[in-house]
Amino acid sequence: MTTHATPTLLWLRQDLRLSDHAALHAAAAEGPVLPVFILDDSDPWAPGGAARWWLHHSLKALGTALAGLGAPLLLLRGEARRVIPDLAAALGARAVHASRLYEPWARQRDADIAAALTARGIALQLHSGATLAEPHRLRTGQGQPYSVYTPFSRAMLALGEPPPPLPAPTALTGTKPPQEGLALEALRLLPRPPVPDWAARFAEYWTPGEATAQARLGEFAARHAATYDRDRDFPGQDLTSRLSPHLHWGEISPRSIWHAVAPAGLTGGRLTYLKEILWREFAYHVLWHSPQLPERPLRAEYEQFPWQPDEALLRAWQQGRTGYPIVDAGMRQLWQHGWMHNRVRMIVGSLLVKHMLQPWQNGAAWFWDTLVDADLAANAMNWQWVSGCGIDASPYFRIFNPILQGEKFDPEGRYVRHFVPELRNVPDGWLHRPWQAPDLVLRGAGVVLGRDYPHPIVDHDAGRARALAALSALKAVE
Ligand SMILES: Cc1cc2nc3c(=O)[nH]c(=O)nc-3n(C[C@H](O)[C@H](O)[C@H](O)COP(=O)(O)OP(=O)(O)OC[C@H]3O[C@@H](n4cnc5c(N)ncnc54)[C@H](O)[C@@H]3O)c2cc1C
Repeated sequence: MTTHATPTLLWLRQDLRLSDHAALHAAAAEGPVLPVFILDDSDPWAPGGAARWWLHHSLKALGTALAGLGAPLLLLRGEARRVIPDLAAALGARAVHASRLYEPWARQRDADIAAALTARGIALQLHSGATLAEPHRLRTGQGQPYSVYTPFSRAMLALGEPPPPLPAPTALTGTKPPQEGLALEALRLLPRPPVPDWAARFAEYWTPGEATAQARLGEFAARHAATYDRDRDFPGQDLTSRLSPHLHWGEISPRSIWHAVAPAGLTGGRLTYLKEILWREFAYHVLWHSPQLPERPLRAEYEQFPWQPDEALLRAWQQGRTGYPIVDAGMRQLWQHGWMHNRVRMIVGSLLVKHMLQPWQNGAAWFWDTLVDADLAANAMNWQWVSGCGIDASPYFRIFNPILQGEKFDPEGRYVRHFVPELRNVPDGWLHRPWQAPDLVLRGAGVVLGRDYPHPIVDHDAGRARALAALSALKAVE
């Protein structure tokens, strides 16, 4: 339905849902609504390739839902700094509503847009919803930002239960857009020839959109949350919630997750799970207070770290050809699914920055382009954690052993055999260290190292020693 009352613009960004959407509620309460999404490739952190695949399908789902409610989604491309004020003015809107973003560049952009709108007598009204608490809400007893996760998570838990999620609207009043929008295909978010369709298999693993996010949450809360603490570290079992891309694109709110999981009791697996959601909150807290997080080490001495950037090494890691089966399985899962299990993200990250001495920013950039859940705060904080250069990070001298990690967390080799099928017939005892297997065993498994599967790109002990030497060189500089 369309009316001629003063309309409101609803600017959708990383909040592609209808439930628990404060900005949508506020806009709808004011009268007719024009929902708009703008693809702005001038953003310094515009989505990478895999995230664009997700975005395409998420916009499709949301567009269908909004049209069904009576307020079709307008799709545009261009610089939001220019498009939003022009569109709001052409619409005759009295306000623009949006959910708050916390990336430093997005905060600056919103401030600029608010000023441009104010100059035209239009208000930009930002609403909470991407996090359980505003990232700047909590402070230590000394009034400082938290630099350690555990006290931060305790303070978050002490805030108690968040308010219940808002219901999805059952109808909206739409309004005629002052300009024609683009067809979804015209946003060109999917891989196109001559580039091969590297995302061809994503749809086997994912269905973007709010409906799937809700269904996945429901199933996880009912069947797996209680045993999450026991199961979460085993990549071959795949028993984590896999909600990360849904959360990144705002197809589900953290409040909805809390209220689906917590009522059965904040203990055991459910508590461990909500503490993971609090790691996400911590990442936003850290990014808020340290906007340099995506680019520069939070421990300033790491600016001097003697990295040894090497294109060939980086490419071998990206392509899952390091010779360490658990690492190669992870990197190939990333390529095939646009996602990687958390335990394996830590192992592949450690090999890259420690054994291979590659700058963490190069690993983070690859993740940014290949993860469907690529999230500036979470990606940067975790890469700094892996590299030992962040706050509350795993110390650099703690070096993951990719062989032992594989044997501990993929003891039956289910994960490695799936993603590294050339090692399928190597017995469990040698699967995570094929280069140490007797010739007879390898021959029996049909594997010739160096032909079917690489030798380790760097020897574990030598890589470890080199990483520690680099660290002591850094200490000498300090
Ligand atoms: C090097 C590295 C890079 C990472 N990059 C990203 C990223 O770009 N985007 C991203 O969402 N997560 C990132 N993570 C965190 C974590 O690996 C993923 O959130 C998790 O694997 C997603 O799977 P899930 O939804 O099944 O997680 P679950 O285990 O089911 O956890 C539930 C939710 O909690 C949050 N969460 C869990 N662990 C973390 C964590 N360590 N830091 C922040 N939030 C967390 C996520 O939102 C996740 O969806 C990274 C981790 C590492 C080690």
